[in-house]
Amino acid sequence: MITNVLTADKDPMGAAIAEYFQKGKASKLRVLSSAFDEDEIPVSTLFRSFKQMPPLEQIALKQATGKILDVGGGSGCHSLALQDMDKDVCAIDISPLAVETMKERGIKDARLVNLFDETFTENFDTILMLMNGSGIIGKITNLPIFFKRIKQLLRPGGSVLMDSSDLKYLFEDEDGSFLIDIAGDYYGEVDFWMEYKKVKGDTFDWLYIDFQTLSLYAIEYGFKTELLKEGKHYNYLAKLTLAE
Ligand code: SAH
Repeated sequence: MITNVLTADKDPMGAAIAEYFQKGKASKLRVLSSAFDEDEIPVSTLFRSFKQMPPLEQIALKQATGKILDVGGGSGCHSLALQDMDKDVCAIDISPLAVETMKERGIKDARLVNLFDETFTENFDTILMLMNGSGIIGKITNLPIFFKRIKQLLRPGGSVLMDSSDLKYLFEDEDGSFLIDIAGDYYGEVDFWMEYKKVKGDTFDWLYIDFQTLSLYAIEYGFKTELLKEGKHYNYLAKLTLAE
């Protein structure tokens, strides 16, 4: 879990976003992990329009109501779509270059703020966490901190709309059985770092969580949980609603 904001020399994704916005193209945004082969995020996908978004994200944007917080706004794709629907959105991100780009793209309220910064004290009806939005939680052991924080930010009756994936498929055997070490760390905990040209970011923890585990914790912290939609690749959209 990252608790500060980034500096430009450690902000590869922000560098990629800013370059794509300025030049209409970008180099490779490399994603590295001790658990996976090297991958890349096509920077253009960070600029997807409503039409280009997967159904799961479109549903989340349609469901978002009242005062909305877009957590980890990135290039601002979701916030822009929400503004187009005349919805009231505040986007936060820890990347200074992403926040700058969001402002230049016309996001009316984009701020350089870490979700876990308790000096950010506004209240929202909907908290959006999209593109494996659970990742920001980092590890299962951070769930108590996360739910406490979300409760500070949500108005009574408010909801979190979050997507994630169940990484169980990575451990599935050909015969359909699963090889998961239940004494080990939770199988959805992954470490990543990113690189864009010469900018290399620090390693960070990223949590993929299955709906059942997320629900168990959420209920314990006073939320009602709903599986809004399942995607094509073990991914899903969840709605966690705080009791009135
Ligand atoms: N939501 C965007 C971007 C997803 S990438 C999209 O769907 O395209 C995740 C974003 O979360 C990055 O821009 C990263 O800088 C930001 N982020 C990571 N940890 C954060 C935190 N603790 N608080 C706020 N933003 C965070």
